[in-house]
Amino acid sequence: LAQSARLYTEQDPVVILSSDSLKQTVLNSSSAWLLQFYSSWCGHCIQYSPTWKALAGDVKDWAQAIQIGVVDCAHEKNFDICKEFGIHFYPTFRVWADRELQTVRQLMVNFLQNHTKHDWPVGCPPLDPARSEGILSLMGKKTEFYTAVIFEDEDSYIGREVILDLMPYEGLAVKRALSSDKLLMEKLGISSVPSAYLFYPNSTHTVMNVQKRLRFFFSSFLKLLPGVHRKQSTSSLQHPQPGNNGQGTQVEWKEFEKSKVYMADLESGLHYLMRVELATHKTLEGEELKTFKDFVTVVAKLFPGHQSVVKLLETLLEWLVSLPLEKIPYDAILDLVNNKMRISGLYLSEQVQWVGCQGSSVALRGYPCSLWTLFHVLTVQAANRPDALANTGFEDDPLAVLQTMRRYIGTFFGCQECGKHFEEMAQESLNQVKSVDDAILWLWRKHNQVNARLTGSMSQDPMFPKTQWPTPDLCPTCHEEQEGLHVWNEQMVLAFLRQHYGASNISPKYSS
Ligand code: FAD
Repeated sequence: LAQSARLYTEQDPVVILSSDSLKQTVLNSSSAWLLQFYSSWCGHCIQYSPTWKALAGDVKDWAQAIQIGVVDCAHEKNFDICKEFGIHFYPTFRVWADRELQTVRQLMVNFLQNHTKHDWPVGCPPLDPARSEGILSLMGKKTEFYTAVIFEDEDSYIGREVILDLMPYEGLAVKRALSSDKLLMEKLGISSVPSAYLFYPNSTHTVMNVQKRLRFFFSSFLKLLPGVHRKQSTSSLQHPQPGNNGQGTQVEWKEFEKSKVYMADLESGLHYLMRVELATHKTLEGEELKTFKDFVTVVAKLFPGHQSVVKLLETLLEWLVSLPLEKIPYDAILDLVNNKMRISGLYLSEQVQWVGCQGSSVALRGYPCSLWTLFHVLTVQAANRPDALANTGFEDDPLAVLQTMRRYIGTFFGCQECGKHFEEMAQESLNQVKSVDDAILWLWRKHNQVNARLTGSMSQDPMFPKTQWPTPDLCPTCHEEQEGLHVWNEQMVLAFLRQHYGASNISPKYSS
């Protein structure tokens, strides 16, 4: 069992099945299933497991139609079930297992289409090409949702893949049409495939403009349309995000650009951190005090903010360093930040003003969003200003920001569960970070890992769906496809992050 736990864990996007659960799960299911029966000691299975996990992650949104499971046949209690199902249920599986991920994904689509009207998985939308009359009838018609039509050649899978990708989303319908339908192509002015055509609810329609005509670009564009959201249970908005309470009421909506970082978010985050989050600690001593000092050091030296805020942080740091105390009452820190420094004109924003981090309700986004933003900014600053941490004990340490963040999140961040997850990620791979650029990319990768885990979860703001970020509209060159699979161009991602989180991209709008 220890072996199998190593191959697939509950954290992976696959369903782990055993003799107890397999029949009940698979046979009563409204979706189809693709199962891998594996042996936890077989070298080939071990080598293949990252591909299988990647496939499962890639088609996670298809779960209503088809799900991916694994069964460890090396486990004694699964012997019988493996015999029974391994052969009868998916006889071609072993052939598939040797193939490229893209081929398996396409075989999944074929497999779905081989179902007949009678055994069609309940949750799966139609995958056959739409009729041209149906599509043409949408012209000039007002509707309640968008309709996207993917035009493609007969042997292309992109249309069906995009249909399946968008299955968990509401507010739009996706259809496919074939390039052999010349009349339809001509009527809509489509000259090459693959292409997508979009009918808006307000009756306008046009060719969809994506930078690259790849599955990921089409899907991502559609998921981000205003009014399109991931289907959610109605209870989700009623659960406040832990660590996100007491932020005051959001008053009016502030216009902002996704391509900018807002100083108001960073300052509001610091305000909340100092005056709300830390204030729950009566005194700081030992490790806590050290963590707080290190946090103030890193922020004081790297925060690209207003002079008065940087000076306040520096004064606080000097004060903390000069105090010979082992134990500091937090009230004394608050008094310093709230009252004493004000006399010298140093002050930290007194209220929260979320801009890029504002949520569609008070309980959503806000503080955790500003913390991520702050630490991304700090990793970029550490790379852009290599001397900034001189004489702090952090000089030449590429991990300065990340270790400080790790300790802050583990010690003070109000969401303990988040801290636990973050610590697991840090233990797993932080030691691979060897340079300040690695640190920028590490944090980006881990943040995306968190986004993937939280997709569709209760902490997701329906107006700001969790995505793999930066989305293609923000950074087209960050995205590529290799053998049909989405891959990141990490050089481009790094360049993008350095620009996006760089000091010159931080807007002062709405900040005090
Ligand atoms: P956020 O995820 O907060 O992102 C803020 C902004 O950063 C985005 O709007 C975008 O502009 C940008 N961004 C997005 N992805 C990236 C990326 N990969 N790289 C760089 N920039 C990016 N919540 C939980 O429910 N469970 C958890 O385990 C959990 N762990 C967390 C761990 C940490 C360290 C932090 C700071 C927060 C954690 N949260 C967790 C909260 C959660 O990640 C979000 O912060 C929260 O749900 C608000 O989401 P958001 O939509 O504002 O976007």
